[in-house]
Amino acid sequence: MLLTGSGRLAPAGLSPWALLVRDGRIAWIGSPSDAPEDERVDLGSALVTPGLVDSHTHPVYAGDRSDEAAARLAGAPYTDGGILRTVRATRLADDATLDRLVEVRLRAALSAGTTTVECKSGYGLSLVEEVRHLRIIGRVADALPIRVVRTFLGAHALPPEAASMAAYADEVAEVMIPAVAHERLAEFVDAFVDEGFFDLEAAERIGRAASAAGLAVRLHAEQLQRTGAAELGVRLGAASVDHLEQLDAEGVGALAASNTVATLLPAPAVVLRDSLPPARALIDAGATVAIASDANAGTFGDFGAMPLAVGLGATLLGMTVTEALTAATSGGASALRRDDIGALRPGAAADLVAWDEEHEGAFALRLGSVRPSRIWISGKEIDVSD
Ligand SMILES: [Zn+2]
Repeated sequence: MLLTGSGRLAPAGLSPWALLVRDGRIAWIGSPSDAPEDERVDLGSALVTPGLVDSHTHPVYAGDRSDEAAARLAGAPYTDGGILRTVRATRLADDATLDRLVEVRLRAALSAGTTTVECKSGYGLSLVEEVRHLRIIGRVADALPIRVVRTFLGAHALPPEAASMAAYADEVAEVMIPAVAHERLAEFVDAFVDEGFFDLEAAERIGRAASAAGLAVRLHAEQLQRTGAAELGVRLGAASVDHLEQLDAEGVGALAASNTVATLLPAPAVVLRDSLPPARALIDAGATVAIASDANAGTFGDFGAMPLAVGLGATLLGMTVTEALTAATSGGASALRRDDIGALRPGAAADLVAWDEEHEGAFALRLGSVRPSRIWISGKEIDVSD
């Protein structure tokens, strides 16, 4: 199949363009006049990009916390009480209910142009519940065309029955991580390292156990307080440290000198009226930057919001539109340690989105309302309407 267009192929900005798809992969990209002969599909003036890669979401939960968001905006603090409220509701929800909720959320992501999504557990906080939630993600993923990457986030908050942080970190490291690795329920292990959540010592224990079990590490880092979690991520060889609202110049330098991706989550920063991560400084220092949605139960609730996240990257975070789009595609792929998605180059998977727009500047101009008209995953067109 030869896709052609008179519009823009972004983020590179090629126009007019032609792209040859063979066996689900991009085989060739260039000018239509040089294109090899094949069955042509003309996309006219549509903007075409790689499928968006959302490298940070929490889709397995029940209950509703919009009342809490309202209370917080009226002055109540963000504490782990909120996460535990979701944990209570989710433990009570049966498999069929959670299956349905996760499916609705992943379909929302796909129909908004996300072709790869990272999905965390973390609202179970016990061996039985965390394993159940990871299995639910796997089951729903198997029935949908969207690519799904699973992350075990047993260290999301301290469960009410835990004797102490150290005791729970031991249980995560010694019981839960080996079980998750044995059943191949996740590729990554994540921990929420922050004031009021897990400290550096507990997170390091969990990160070392993940590596020992053959699982890669990612961390929630520097969101509420500057704790040194970014440097811990670098020491652990983490694929990504996410949030970074409180990161300082020293932390920027540490990430720029490492292979750890800096993942920025502008949507919850807006909802929490938090400080903004130093996106410009990270890019200028040479760090690899990703943008993700952080769709979750309590601080940002829209699973179809990657176009909004790109727009916020380009407006609120001071990135160019091209930088923001790159962060939401190849940056997200790097954060998931994937070199086969998120970029338009020969050999990469033919994960493509044609948008109802003519220029990538629309992600900024029409904040959050940019929609796909057609989507392909591995060269196979997905029905966007269902
Ligand atoms: Zn998160």
